[in-house]
Amino acid sequence: MAVIGIDLGTTNSLATVWKDGKSVLIPNSFNEYLTPSAVGFDDDGELLIGKIAKERLISHPNKTAASFKCFMGTGKKIKIDGREFSAAELSSFILRQLKQDAETFLGETVEEAIISVPAYFNDNGRSAVKLAGELAGLKVERIVNEPSAAALAYRMSDDSSDTYLVFDFGGGTLDVSVVDIFDSVIEIIAVAGDNHLGGDDFNLAIAKFFCTQNGLDFEMLEPEQRAIILKQSEQCKISLSSNSRVGMMASIDGRDYSLVFDNNTLLKAAALIFDRIKAPIVKALNDAEMTVKDISDVILVGGSSRMPLVQKYLEALFKREIKCSVSPDTAVALGVGVVTGVKSRNADIKDVVLTDICPFTLGIDNYNDEDPYRPLFFPLIERNTTLPASVEHDFCTSVDKQKKITISIAQGEKYYFDSNLKLGEISVSVPPAPAGREGVTVRLTYDINGILQVDVTRIGTNKTKSKTIISNNTLSDEEIRKKLAELEKLKIHPRNNDEVKYLNARAQRLFEESKADTRALIRSRLQYFNSVVESQNLRKIREASVNFSKFLDIIDYTDNDPFYGIEEEDYD
Ligand code: ADP
Ligand code: MG
Repeated sequence: MAVIGIDLGTTNSLATVWKDGKSVLIPNSFNEYLTPSAVGFDDDGELLIGKIAKERLISHPNKTAASFKCFMGTGKKIKIDGREFSAAELSSFILRQLKQDAETFLGETVEEAIISVPAYFNDNGRSAVKLAGELAGLKVERIVNEPSAAALAYRMSDDSSDTYLVFDFGGGTLDVSVVDIFDSVIEIIAVAGDNHLGGDDFNLAIAKFFCTQNGLDFEMLEPEQRAIILKQSEQCKISLSSNSRVGMMASIDGRDYSLVFDNNTLLKAAALIFDRIKAPIVKALNDAEMTVKDISDVILVGGSSRMPLVQKYLEALFKREIKCSVSPDTAVALGVGVVTGVKSRNADIKDVVLTDICPFTLGIDNYNDEDPYRPLFFPLIERNTTLPASVEHDFCTSVDKQKKITISIAQGEKYYFDSNLKLGEISVSVPPAPAGREGVTVRLTYDINGILQVDVTRIGTNKTKSKTIISNNTLSDEEIRKKLAELEKLKIHPRNNDEVKYLNARAQRLFEESKADTRALIRSRLQYFNSVVESQNLRKIREASVNFSKFLDIIDYTDNDPFYGIEEEDYD
């Protein structure tokens, strides 16, 4: 029984499988890798999926549907041939087709899939994807973010750690994500996008330009005529990605119209679209608190990224050459294929940790001074935190002679602990002492498969008691054991980290060796560095470590001018 990877796209969907040490694309019955995400009914009421349905979008608009992905999890009903469907139901038809194609290709049954979704999909959208899978007879234990998948495919060809901008320009949407690859952990730092900008807009721009040049009014044409011109426009656009000049033709009311396009004509026709590409890039970089200089490479994803004009535009914006090391329209699917390999614990790929986002807050109960019988909720892992996450906090006894500290864990967003969903509890004994004297460090570690690990360490003795809470009880003990072993690496609190310890020690030594002004400077930099360490944000800590280390180098190697070579931005 095989596990397949699926890129369930707005325009096209693809399936992959991990085979012979690599991610392999699965062909459909047309021997093509891209299956249009279109569904329809023929005149006998039989279901049509993919390429055939897409073809009929023009001739039978009431009997076909496409671009329904944007309604996943919204409750919207889509009408086809008088019948109503949810987006999940329509998606399940696509998934069913991909499953069948995979079974034909592999010669065995496929019962499980890993499916990718846009990073901004909330829990409803993700649940709808799982439901679509179930409806198609596929178990969907894991959902992967599209930009992470693309980054993973990219990483297979270039095994470096860095920060990337994933530019996913599809049929109807532009998704921009800043993704960090560090030490086999792939983390999404920020996402932004334009849900109404994609390849379809180029088609429309070309169609309108074609009409204007031929003395036609696009808006005044019949829907079928418009659809024909739009289809020709898309062909023209795609041809322009590999040819310098393309002749476009369309026959309207028995008359033939034509126009020759080159990329300059396209630029003229679609100038407004290019203007809109920049905004999501700027937003994603701002949210990530980064500039273009922090991005080591742009990963091109989505069919529209194949356009030479789009690539040129990005090259001008990023002031560098942008290579397509992975094919833009298969990158996400290939990445999901890699995840299936990771999931089946293939020996050829090891310990890649993909991050996801925690949809709810995880926290523990906290003593309430005003009402000791109604504890408050103390959030540890905040909603929307990137997963896997690991956060700790110290707590102490609240009454005199307390013999036991009991920590209760819950998920939710409510003020009082009992208003949230309780997940479990764990107790440790402490010697009786005045209130506040004894304490514990509580650490919560949560991974993408819904496994929550609670560690309670008594301060002073360093004895730890642990408990594992599984919210989604579908993993075997063996899998959990392996999963936890994988997570061990992440659980190390930055404060225990060798690098942090080393920098603290080095700063203190330099403090001892230095005089007044330099001392004050070292102290403030050390305090700032340790405040970043407190934030428990691994990426920020890495950055701060590099900067702090540079600063210490300067102090260490420049004895007369401590300010020499320190850049202004190093201070904040
Ligand atoms: P989605 O992620 O939305 O399902 P895709 O990544 O499959 O979409 O991209 C589909 C879009 O890419 C369509 O608008 C299609 O016209 C466009 N496209 C595909 N190939 C090319 C190409 N070679 N040149 C330009 N545009 C292309
Ligand atoms: Mg896509």
